[in-house]
Amino acid sequence: MTRLVAVGKTDVGKVRTSNEDAYLVGDSVFAVADGMGGHAAGEVAASAALEPVRALDGRVFADAPSAAAALRDAVITANQTVSQMAEDDPSYHGMGTTLTATLLEGTRLHIAHVGDSRAYLLRDGQFSQITDDHTLVQHLIDEGQITVEEAATHPQRSIITRAIGVSPEVDVDSMSLELQPGDVLLLCSDGLTGVVDDHAIAQIIAQNGDPDTAVRDLLARANAAGSPDNVTAVLLHYDDAHTARSGRTTVAIRTRHEDSEADWAERMGTFGAFGANRAVSTHASRGDDPSLTRLVMRWTAILFGIALLVVVLIAGGRFLLNQSYFVGLEGEEVVIYQGIDMEIGPVDLARVRERTGITLDDVPPWYHPTLEAGRPAADINDARRIVRQMPQREDEDTS
Ligand code: MN
Repeated sequence: MTRLVAVGKTDVGKVRTSNEDAYLVGDSVFAVADGMGGHAAGEVAASAALEPVRALDGRVFADAPSAAAALRDAVITANQTVSQMAEDDPSYHGMGTTLTATLLEGTRLHIAHVGDSRAYLLRDGQFSQITDDHTLVQHLIDEGQITVEEAATHPQRSIITRAIGVSPEVDVDSMSLELQPGDVLLLCSDGLTGVVDDHAIAQIIAQNGDPDTAVRDLLARANAAGSPDNVTAVLLHYDDAHTARSGRTTVAIRTRHEDSEADWAERMGTFGAFGANRAVSTHASRGDDPSLTRLVMRWTAILFGIALLVVVLIAGGRFLLNQSYFVGLEGEEVVIYQGIDMEIGPVDLARVRERTGITLDDVPPWYHPTLEAGRPAADINDARRIVRQMPQREDEDTS
């Protein structure tokens, strides 16, 4: 007789005034959602996204494929619901949420996932993240452009490339896992993983046989580390009272990035032709590089850059449009950029949104590094405010 003990908790953290995370602990469905969007919209998005998953609780399925499909469909329904709400109500415009949802079907756990919340598995002393983060920094890691350590402090680490509710279409990661006695599953929001590293999380879980204590400890550890974000953890302890030693050893964990290039190529889809044209013209204009290897590398870089741009702009477009402005320099001139302060291959992810006519000569030297680095703004008005309030060389106050 198998049994699954599940405990979930959420905490507002040390900095935020509201909790936009939500979780679901049912009999057979378990999920975490991390909502985004101002004025309570994030809370609305997160809880609305959990509803179609909750509707599956207790349902019996004919076989594994139908259970997996039902979970996936619930996530697609969640996306349609949230994106429709965001479209219908101006106060919900731009809201979205992550969703990491699981469905227990017999001895199998089906997982459907969008965003940067995570699922981890602790099995035989091995703790592994089994979902992929749909974040900009994860793509940069996959492409070898930054290291995992650099990602942890990267200024754009909170930018997600996929979310529930930002577009009528969503690309859902699905995987299934044959559970073994003793397995522990953790679902959590980035409020935990952003401040507590995997090693510490694994230790807390391994040291606590009782899931309730383990979840409390996880949240306490996040709070002790400052908790700048809402923190949520759902822990599932799977046990089999009659089968101390299961004969089954097959583990079916499938993650997306086993073949990330094929994945990218597939996701590029109709944009491939555009990328190829760009690549050819770029090459022709240079006309100095007959090396096939260089050509292939350049193509790869250009295709990746465009793919990333497309994914960021379409899949996560509203987050970008709403959130990604910065004040920086184009040559000597101070300008407001829209996008991300970064170049991927030949593709610059930012464009000049507004010029100011202000040059470096107008600004005191101590402020130049700020402009060179790019000063992030919440939105276009915030960017304009930064420009208005920018120190001027003429009436530079000492304070
Ligand atoms: Mn979060």
